[in-house]
Amino acid sequence: MPDIPFWNKCNNKCVMCTNLPVFARQRGAQYGLKEQIVKLERYRKGLGPVYLKNAARAEFVSLTGGEPTLHPDFFKLLSYFRLRLPGVPITLLSNGRRFADARFAARFCAVAKPPFSTAIALHGPSPRVHDAVSGVKGSFAQTLEGIRSLLSIPGAPGVEVRVILHKKNIAVLRKTLEFLLGNFPDTSAYRVTVIHYEIEGMSLANHRGLRLKLSESAAALAACLPLIKRFGDFRLYHFPLCLVRKELRALCWITQPPEDRCYPAGKCGRCRLRRKCAGLMLEYMKHFGDPELRPVKR
Ligand code: SF4
Repeated sequence: MPDIPFWNKCNNKCVMCTNLPVFARQRGAQYGLKEQIVKLERYRKGLGPVYLKNAARAEFVSLTGGEPTLHPDFFKLLSYFRLRLPGVPITLLSNGRRFADARFAARFCAVAKPPFSTAIALHGPSPRVHDAVSGVKGSFAQTLEGIRSLLSIPGAPGVEVRVILHKKNIAVLRKTLEFLLGNFPDTSAYRVTVIHYEIEGMSLANHRGLRLKLSESAAALAACLPLIKRFGDFRLYHFPLCLVRKELRALCWITQPPEDRCYPAGKCGRCRLRRKCAGLMLEYMKHFGDPELRPVKR
């Protein structure tokens, strides 16, 4: 199943958002309850292209935005998706702010039956860093409260904290991981996923201030290895295996569809890790090329 834009408005203005403001300016009605139901049913019946991203992936669903929790019929629509996609893992991508409201969080947990997870983006270890990335003062406190709130509800769907790395927060990666360990010490209760930013939408528009090489991200991760080992479930997205330390390779996942990735023949053609590797994001290749890659000899 594909990435499904659940709702096109957002209450954050993240500098590395992969959407452009034109998306939020679209009429909300086309993401309304009825319209979303019609789209889902058309997709289920295989009636032509309905969703654009990850359309060929049948094994999971990602509900994206905007901010899905702001949908005016959020609970009704979520219940419908859960009912019509039995057994399909659903991941809700969120900034977590609405879950700061304990009643909202409890209602959500009652609807989001497994297999279900909530992936919440945390941009840094402090309001100074997080709010500068999210573009909204006070969002750090709400996101944090949202995570706390979900983790406190027995039987709540799985919580994943997503840290998207770019130039504005790479220097505080260690502090961000220490912050999570200090504030959420039961590391079996949630997953941490560290993602190298994608160059698309606002992150492309703001690229001068975000520009970060994969080798810089990988070096910061290597320096945090002892901290990373303390988490029960830790994942890395968008990292070529040759750039990360050997000990971290098992944590790397391939999440993008093949059409969004590349394996430069001069490097990857002679690498024994090719089959299990995410390669380079196409947009990354356009901006940085492949000189960082170090094929692992057969
Ligand atoms: S050389 Fe290519 S295939 Fe090999 S690890 Fe690096 S990116 Fe992956």
